[in-house]
Amino acid sequence: MRLAGSRSLLWSALMLLLCCLPAFAAGAGGKLEVEMYRGSFASVNSFIFSNGKSLIVMDVQRKAVEADRLIERVKARHLPLTHILITHGHTDHFTGMARFHAAFPQARIVVASEDIKRAIKAYAIYMDSGGETGAEPALDPALKPKTALNPGGFDYENRIEVLPGKTLTLDGGGTLELTTDYLPAEADYMTTVYSPELNALFLSDFGYNHVHLWLGDDISRQDIANWKSELGRIKREYAARNPTVYPGHGDVTDMSMFDTVMGYIDNYTRITLSAKTRSEAMEQMKALYPGWGEADFFLKYSLENHIKE
Ligand SMILES: [Zn+2]
Repeated sequence: MRLAGSRSLLWSALMLLLCCLPAFAAGAGGKLEVEMYRGSFASVNSFIFSNGKSLIVMDVQRKAVEADRLIERVKARHLPLTHILITHGHTDHFTGMARFHAAFPQARIVVASEDIKRAIKAYAIYMDSGGETGAEPALDPALKPKTALNPGGFDYENRIEVLPGKTLTLDGGGTLELTTDYLPAEADYMTTVYSPELNALFLSDFGYNHVHLWLGDDISRQDIANWKSELGRIKREYAARNPTVYPGHGDVTDMSMFDTVMGYIDNYTRITLSAKTRSEAMEQMKALYPGWGEADFFLKYSLENHIKE
């Protein structure tokens, strides 16, 4: 009797497990995967995360035509897009917001901190008031801020949501861990993303792979030094996990990228302090980093920022 009782208990437990298994599997979603979209303008990357049930897109390109291509990639998956995550307040990462909002009105545009939300709006205003370089198009008209004089403009205050916590969970399973506690570097405020399921680290613009670093605009020598020290810190933090590394600019890589970029920062600092002219510094940097992307854009304007002529 006892034996039969425990058998039937075992049987019930097994049935319970079997009947719940499909629900659990559905709850966990399919295997998380990521697709990298490599923009041709500024070699900037966007990412589409999918668990087979829903999608999250991270960063949305600088040019409308490229945002449209990214939108097509998202639509081709025939799954609901729940979130558009913007990592930081630079136009090459957020310009596509307006087009994404038009294409996916239900998707929430989210950032990981109030500072990033403010930085996005401030940079849009800066770009709209003459901040663009000769290499860049003016601000997308759809991103001109909504004001009393421009009621059809982009409503930064209400359109961009600050996430309440530092995780973003895909509908159907899968978690993205967000980190924002960084010193001012390539931008004053930056989000990096780690996916435990993929063991992948998305560095946004702490990471550049065979693309010259953007050190233009108001990026000070202190910011550059911060960038290097934060790379050292991130490298130590993730070394044991040895993740796949996805940079903000350039192709997917591995943990070796950290030493390469830290070495680049040393060389850039040394050369810009010693070179007499921008063209002399350009020659030296190109000789050290042959074939690296965006020499005529990122490197050119970085040298204009750090070498006064
Ligand atoms: Zn960027």
